[in-house]
Amino acid sequence: GSFADLQLNEWVVGHLGSLGFNKPTPIQYNCIPPILKGKDCFGCSKTGSGKTAAFALPVLQKLSEDPYGVFCLVLTPTRELAYQIADQFAFIGKPINVRTCVVVGGMDMLKQAHQLQKKPHIVIATPGRLADLLRTNENNVKLNKIKFLVLDEADRLLDKMDGDFTEDLNVIFSALPKERQTLLFSATLTDTLNEVKELSTKNPFFWKS
Ligand code: AMP
Repeated sequence: GSFADLQLNEWVVGHLGSLGFNKPTPIQYNCIPPILKGKDCFGCSKTGSGKTAAFALPVLQKLSEDPYGVFCLVLTPTRELAYQIADQFAFIGKPINVRTCVVVGGMDMLKQAHQLQKKPHIVIATPGRLADLLRTNENNVKLNKIKFLVLDEADRLLDKMDGDFTEDLNVIFSALPKERQTLLFSATLTDTLNEVKELSTKNPFFWKS
């Protein structure tokens, strides 16, 4: 299959060629069409399989049709992953001048709150820091209009949360609109993951490599 088969806009397909993305990986080929149709998605696939672009491409296409911030929230387990994801969004979303914001521990919280107030299109966060920001929400950070929630490396995301993940997740989920698309990606399938799947997704399109 090719990117042209996936109901992606011309600007996306043309730009992908210039990035050296000549052919979609299996997770991209299988997950992008249902995501573009508005389905929740649960993709199970190893790291390095191209899953970042599997969610970044449809999210950026939808953003280009209705640009506003904050459009999409991505939760990921580590700082390093957060910056990598932000880089890929910036790279793929260059033709539409996408604005991203990374919210992770170890960085100045006030600065992050100010960046969030500028309404970036895509917020990429680790759950602990984002939950802290929302708990003490003096800065009135608003995530109530997001169209997409992405749970990246969801298995590790939950491991990192000391088994007490529900508290941070509840703080975050309660700041989000009920009407949204949730995209969940993970390398493995665990019982906790099923719990979160129940909590966050609606009858998701399931794909496993
Ligand atoms: P990921 O699994 O999202 O961490 O992606 C792994 C690497 O593959 C990243 O460096 C991407 O830029 C690259 N990549 C993702 N999709 C494609 C593709 N369709 N063609 C070529 N490279 C890709």
